[in-house]
Amino acid sequence: MTNSQHLKWFNQIEKALWSLFDQFEDLCSRCAVKTLHEVEQRQRKGRAAWCCCMIDNQVHDSWEALNAIQVRSDRDWYEKLPRQDMGRSMPGNGPCPALGETGCQLKKHRPITCTTQLCTKMLIVLNALDLVMSPVHHALQIEDLIELPGILPTLYGTARKPRTVSRDDVRRYTDAIKALRDRFAAQPIAKRHRALKRGLQEGR
Ligand code: SF4
Ligand code: SF4
Repeated sequence: MTNSQHLKWFNQIEKALWSLFDQFEDLCSRCAVKTLHEVEQRQRKGRAAWCCCMIDNQVHDSWEALNAIQVRSDRDWYEKLPRQDMGRSMPGNGPCPALGETGCQLKKHRPITCTTQLCTKMLIVLNALDLVMSPVHHALQIEDLIELPGILPTLYGTARKPRTVSRDDVRRYTDAIKALRDRFAAQPIAKRHRALKRGLQEGR
């Protein structure tokens, strides 16, 4: 059973990660628009070419832990989700029921995969800006790119062998994310936009 302190720390970490993901500007909404266009045109590219929230269903994939956490603040959280009708079946098991007009409707404690995953488009951007050196042909988790304490499964209540987590572990995690975020934010705007354009075009 997840404890309240662990969930608070998880939320601190996800906020730090969202601040990093904010650096990708409107990449996700452009990716979603592009996906909808390709769905309409009946194009079907590789699974990873499309908006991850439209082809994945992390709510059900992570149901046990996610539901246990979300019911703490709202028993009816699942019934309140918007549910997108894509008008056709998508590859994978999407769209995710938490996906709304403005993106994910879970305001905190999203599944770990959603919180830490960098898709191929994001990896292309990070590599183009020399912020990381990694493969770009399949999605990775943030801990594949930078050294981080392996505490998220314990904080989220999914660890097979929970470990002791200290405030210091959480600080080390958020500091490492902030350092990468700051390096990203310091990139010249034109270079960032070239990288973002390339990520959207080439990501698959
Ligand atoms: S596939 Fe990447 S760019 Fe597209 S919505 Fe998902 S995280 Fe954003
Ligand atoms: S929970 Fe949110 S971020 Fe994760 S797949 Fe669903 S809509 Fe996307």
